[in-house]
Amino acid sequence: MNLQQKSKLVEELFRELEEETSEFYRQGGLSCLAGCGFCCANPKIPATPLEFLPLAFDLYDKGLAEEFANQLALEEKPGNCIIYRAQADDEKKGFCGSYKHRGLICRLFGASSRKNSKTGNKDLITCKILKEKFPQEFKETTERINSGFPIPVSIAWYTQLHDIDEYLTTQYPINQAILMALELVLRYKFYQEGEVVEQL
Ligand code: SF4
Repeated sequence: MNLQQKSKLVEELFRELEEETSEFYRQGGLSCLAGCGFCCANPKIPATPLEFLPLAFDLYDKGLAEEFANQLALEEKPGNCIIYRAQADDEKKGFCGSYKHRGLICRLFGASSRKNSKTGNKDLITCKILKEKFPQEFKETTERINSGFPIPVSIAWYTQLHDIDEYLTTQYPINQAILMALELVLRYKFYQEGEVVEQL
């Protein structure tokens, strides 16, 4: 399977996840606050190159892949996600600059569950802001997801990602994962275009 095909499979996975996530929200799941960028303003977000292949291909198609890759290669220490657009006066407020091509972690955080190893119950994967601002809703949602309320299970989606490509599902700080995805796409396109030229 070539890189483009892997990227298409990741997009397909995201479409399926979106259906499950929409169901979670339709049935009253806790959702993020409008304009909040608390999670995106964290350089340590763990991500994999594979989940950012669709973003990297999209940036390539827009002629921006090299510019983004060069910018990331110059980072001396991990910075906030390069796609994040923060408000000038508050780094913790902003929006995703490529929401359609955000990664798996971005899709699962706030809208998925994991098994609590001590209690065996499902824990809602969410941020401290929602827990603190809406303690009652958080408690109710936690109770509901443990009584059959539909919610994506994080590990199941990571397993499916892993099944597409084991090697590309190692986790790195988010910008490093995006840089690796961009480098893979740039190399892939370089060789693909070389083959086209040879055939002419
Ligand atoms: S890709 Fe978008 S949603 Fe994900 S961390 Fe970056 S800015 Fe946030």
